[in-house]
Amino acid sequence: MAEQAEIGWPTCEQAGCIGIRLAAARMCLAHASEEETADALKLVGETGAIDARGVSITPTLLERILTAAPRRKKKPLIKGCRFEQATFTGDAQFGEVTFSGDARFGEATFTGLAWFDRATFTGDAWFNQATFTRLAVFGMATFTGDALFDVANFKGPGYAQFGKVTFNGKAWFYRTAFSGDALFGGARFEQARQFGPLLAAGRLELDDVQFAQPVQIEVSAAGLCCRRARFPSGVQFRLRWARVVLDDTDLAAPSILAGIPAPSEEILAGRENEIATAWQRLPAGELSERPQLVSLQRVNVAGLGLSNVSAADCRFAGAHNLDKLRLESGVSFATAPSQWGLGGRRWGGREVIAEERAWRANPDRPPGLAAAGPPRTGRGGWATGSPACWTRGRSPGSTGRCARDARTSRMSRAPPTSTTARWRCVAPAHVATATPAISLARARGDGWSAAS
Ligand SMILES: [Zn+2]
Repeated sequence: MAEQAEIGWPTCEQAGCIGIRLAAARMCLAHASEEETADALKLVGETGAIDARGVSITPTLLERILTAAPRRKKKPLIKGCRFEQATFTGDAQFGEVTFSGDARFGEATFTGLAWFDRATFTGDAWFNQATFTRLAVFGMATFTGDALFDVANFKGPGYAQFGKVTFNGKAWFYRTAFSGDALFGGARFEQARQFGPLLAAGRLELDDVQFAQPVQIEVSAAGLCCRRARFPSGVQFRLRWARVVLDDTDLAAPSILAGIPAPSEEILAGRENEIATAWQRLPAGELSERPQLVSLQRVNVAGLGLSNVSAADCRFAGAHNLDKLRLESGVSFATAPSQWGLGGRRWGGREVIAEERAWRANPDRPPGLAAAGPPRTGRGGWATGSPACWTRGRSPGSTGRCARDARTSRMSRAPPTSTTARWRCVAPAHVATATPAISLARARGDGWSAAS
């Protein structure tokens, strides 16, 4: 049979079945007689190895396999398994299983829950081109060897959970697609230098992750949430579509966050086109092909450069080393409305950050300050509402203090001694002073740096 030649193993004689024959039978593990199955499972118990390539595996059969397997700390120990092209027809419960050899699930299909919570893979784990049609849970799993999820398709509408996973080897998520959220919160990547390119119709969560090596992360997603993350050797984000939150992340090492014009892989570009149709139906401004940076609060941006992103809604409160933040090409901010202000001076064209915009649109701000600034309402005014943002709201008092400092600085005739000094002269949350700093750099047509 042509199929057999492509499949590469002797197949079961059951019509339409591509399961590998048992060594002492003409059928696969799913279709063999009870006696033949019992003999095969006895062998699993003796060797710890299982070859079920192409086999259709019910939850009952999987339970029998795991029950027959040797034990380690009272949990199943699989010393090498081959489940390539196997179909798990119900929930696949591999929780706390130890895979001491290579675990091969390439092109396998999980029609129910794929449960690998706290599993341990001491060899390489192959999930390349696997299809997960419902939830996939790898929470707190440990991958000592390489973890390969290349071209895997997480089709479940909910999420794929990789929370607190340890990847000691390479972590390949090349051309991986997630139909929901991809959750990697708390994961540790010891060797990975590349993450993606991948596609997530929902959000990619990288909260509390740590990448020990310099890493390039390429993703098309509705959102990227990367709070409290650590990139001691630097990170290069290559993003599309995403609204991005980086709160409390340390970006002191040379790093860049850039919007890219197209996915680097054609197969992802096609999938992205399908999903983008839904993204584009969101209210205007929610998502755009160019990523939107929405929060850098308390981020150490000493090594960070931005390129081709919108920062119009970005919050900077408490960010550190803002004088070292590099604004490269294609970084945009909101623009102040053109209005007549104090002393007949015309305002307009100045780029402003989200905090200032929110403060000026706030009807509860102190009236004494309002008199010197542009009008709060009216045609072309500031009352545009709070910027769309994922971040929590700030108290009127704190934003008032920010803006007071900003205004005091702006109204002073004396030029600032340096951008650095301006940043250091304000309390941590007083990021509204970014406004004059940005304006100064823009007016000179150069980047925003300590030297400007
Ligand atoms: Zn069969």
